[in-house]
Amino acid sequence: MKNSLGGKGANLAEMSRLGLPVPAGFTITTECCNAYFALGGQFPEGLKKQVMTALAEVERLMGRKYGDAENPLLVSCRSGARQSMPGMMDTVLNIGLSTTTIPGLIAKTNNERFVWDSYRRLIMMYADVVMEKAEGIEPYDGKGIRRILDEMLDQYKYIKDCKADTDLTAEDLKTLAHAFKRRIKEVLGTEFPDDPMQQLWGGIGAVFKSWVGKKAVSYRRIEGIPENWGTAVNVQTMVFGNMGDSSATGVAFTRNPATGQNLFFGEWLLNAQGEDVVAGIRTPSPLNNATKTDQNRDMKSMEDMMPATYKELDAIRLRLEKHYRDMQDIEFTVEEGKLYMLQCRTGKRGGKAAVTMALDMLDDGLINETDAVLRVNPNQVMEFLLPIIEPKLEAKSQWLLKGLPAGPGSACGEIVFTSADVVRATRMGKKVILVREETNPEDVEGMRDAVGVLTARGGMTSHAALVARGWGKSCIVGASEMQVDAPNKTLKVGDKTLREGALITMNGSAGTVYEGALRLVEPTAGEDYAEFLRFMSIVDKLRTMGVRANADTAVDARKARSFGAEGIGLFRMEHMFYGEGSAKPLFLLRKMILCITVADRVAVLKELFPYMKNDIKGTMEAMDEFPVTIRLLDPPLHEFLPHSQLGRLELSKALGIAEDEVRKRVDALQENNPMMGHRGVRLSVTYPEMTEYQARAIFESAAELIRDGKKVIPEIMVPITCDVRELRHTKEIVERVYAEVVRRFDLKKLKYKLGTMIEIPRAALLADQMAADAEFFSFGTNDLTQLTFGFSRDDIGSFMSAYLDQRILAADPFQTIDQSGVGALIEMATLKGRAVRPDLKVGICGEQGGDPASVEFCYKTGLTYVSCSAFRVPVARVAAAQAAIKAAKQ
Ligand code: PEP
Ligand code: MG
Repeated sequence: MKNSLGGKGANLAEMSRLGLPVPAGFTITTECCNAYFALGGQFPEGLKKQVMTALAEVERLMGRKYGDAENPLLVSCRSGARQSMPGMMDTVLNIGLSTTTIPGLIAKTNNERFVWDSYRRLIMMYADVVMEKAEGIEPYDGKGIRRILDEMLDQYKYIKDCKADTDLTAEDLKTLAHAFKRRIKEVLGTEFPDDPMQQLWGGIGAVFKSWVGKKAVSYRRIEGIPENWGTAVNVQTMVFGNMGDSSATGVAFTRNPATGQNLFFGEWLLNAQGEDVVAGIRTPSPLNNATKTDQNRDMKSMEDMMPATYKELDAIRLRLEKHYRDMQDIEFTVEEGKLYMLQCRTGKRGGKAAVTMALDMLDDGLINETDAVLRVNPNQVMEFLLPIIEPKLEAKSQWLLKGLPAGPGSACGEIVFTSADVVRATRMGKKVILVREETNPEDVEGMRDAVGVLTARGGMTSHAALVARGWGKSCIVGASEMQVDAPNKTLKVGDKTLREGALITMNGSAGTVYEGALRLVEPTAGEDYAEFLRFMSIVDKLRTMGVRANADTAVDARKARSFGAEGIGLFRMEHMFYGEGSAKPLFLLRKMILCITVADRVAVLKELFPYMKNDIKGTMEAMDEFPVTIRLLDPPLHEFLPHSQLGRLELSKALGIAEDEVRKRVDALQENNPMMGHRGVRLSVTYPEMTEYQARAIFESAAELIRDGKKVIPEIMVPITCDVRELRHTKEIVERVYAEVVRRFDLKKLKYKLGTMIEIPRAALLADQMAADAEFFSFGTNDLTQLTFGFSRDDIGSFMSAYLDQRILAADPFQTIDQSGVGALIEMATLKGRAVRPDLKVGICGEQGGDPASVEFCYKTGLTYVSCSAFRVPVARVAAAQAAIKAAKQ
């Protein structure tokens, strides 16, 4: 049902079926939206007739008539896709108000102010959504019609000395409505339509078009939502929360979406329409007293102001949770004391909240273990590993600002004031925090790239808060003491002014903002972490595929193990030549690279040997009992040589070779295309002595650990092979060294495996031959993607975003496996390999190994394990369990 009616439509129908108070309405399907686009933006045949029939039924149920002068029905047109996309598509309210229907509605409601307020809202929304956005009009100075009208409203309020919108009289609103219409004609060149039917069809078309609007497209790309889903349009009778002090509107969650706490949690506004809450224009009040915070302690709750209606709403909350067996996000309106449900959908939640709710519902018998595991988005478990401000330092520090804790974790970065500035700054490698007056879904790209989001207005249920929470992004909203001056790029708190680029640190879990950079640390084992561990133990019970980590040091290996890695899938030998402590081994490597004779090279390899052994042994020891896949040296040697004259000079001095000679040797190693040059197994072919010493370091480390009573399982992995004979060549060296070490250490047994990476399409095509000598395969999907697409992995920056924008590719194949192309090679190689060697171990160790969709693909393809960076190990564990659960369900 959801696929056709969209989430909103399906749930409205369901609530209506449950007998809950839902205003009458109907839904135009997502198929119809697709047909509309297929026809180049024309309504498909038969739609008009069906809409008229449905409208007549709504008129009958409500006892009102659309466009009628005496008893007019007003409707809303609201979007709703299969999966919720909060605030990314458009909605128009109060449709049907015109010069004919206004007097009738005034007479009927006896509330002139309300009618003019509704009319000015219709004009503002309609001009923005239908007349500007849906028409693809790009305001030349970035200032859209909505902003222009908002400014007129503010100006008018200033002249009339009104503080709030609610201070405006009927006469004021009427004057404004007329002024708005004149301004719209001036700016957009067309009249605001006075015909209710024209308004209705304009609204329907605009909702369809909002499916391909900028923010919806960006959001879909980030969330991986398919293009061809389309949106449904819900046409529903308007009920009014702005009819005076017995009317209200609100948004709520059946449990706290940030913490998961089982308390009814929401926000409401008296005498207002729904957009006022979610657009973050007014900071709303808390629904009840139990969930008040320091910021809203003095505001009036619905529980106090409308006790009977609140009780009714609370009962509906419990009913909905029981029915859907999940936390719901609801919208409601109270029209002159009568409660209406406008929406219910499965609520977005942060990772911590998702785990808490899943476990609570499991304990309450509402769901079972498989459901509990499926409830958590794999990427969200990263939140439990998010940095926090160093607790002692935070306790000592005085916060500058406090707002609502809308998104978890802490972040530290430079402040910027527009979404475009975030994107620009992040491209330059900066960490930035987006500071805005109010949360706005137009900022979706910037919110995605920023490390944190901070706004002055808006509540916990504002769209941006929902989106940030869904992404596990540090987010604070409603920090009302700050004044944001976006044009001048400053923020002010009291007499303090911070300019663009100033550093702040925010604690999104507490809602506090600090000036300057506070030290962020890893989360210590607290209550949350214990809950995380319990959840992960359920995950592991339901998981069948292995999860390993890519790690190259004992420290990283221990971390990976603590995150649940069951081995190392990629230990990169070259790691010792980078970063901390690399000066000496790197110097020796350079010395070796510049050697001319084998004898000289061997002499240096002997010096290098203890360094090789050190990291290997430490890592194997840390992974005790788990396998460690050690990859032989892979990068092109030229990469390790100094490229500057100064560097060469230093090297020539250290080695006692003339600088000119050093330059000649360095130049001789220069390659046009090093990633496809002298690297990987090719080094083993040209410098067998290098392989010999690496194998010796591995076997000696293993032998010493075995002698100390440890269990070790080394797996030697040969990179970048394209032919089985390369593998055989390497295998012969490895076997010779093996025999020598076993003899020397007088060991009966030292179990190990020798295998290869599959990174070159030729190796995948000839996987059956490779498997004759390889005991395992590990797909190096970084190189395999590079070589399958012919895209240099180091140079995609210049064209990938154009490929994504123009939808030539649905996703970056270096982030998620290209299942149809690269995936086909993986599938074929696995089948061919196992046909020759049924017990062939098959894994993946490219970056995609921690991406949930890729993990699911690996599971379906029958891989033995996935390997990813330590921090993504919990993500891969959840994704692997979910893949197994989904497969069992099918
Ligand atoms: C790969 O190519 O996927 C891989 C893991 O190796 P590297 O990234 O080191 O080339
Ligand atoms: Mg590689």
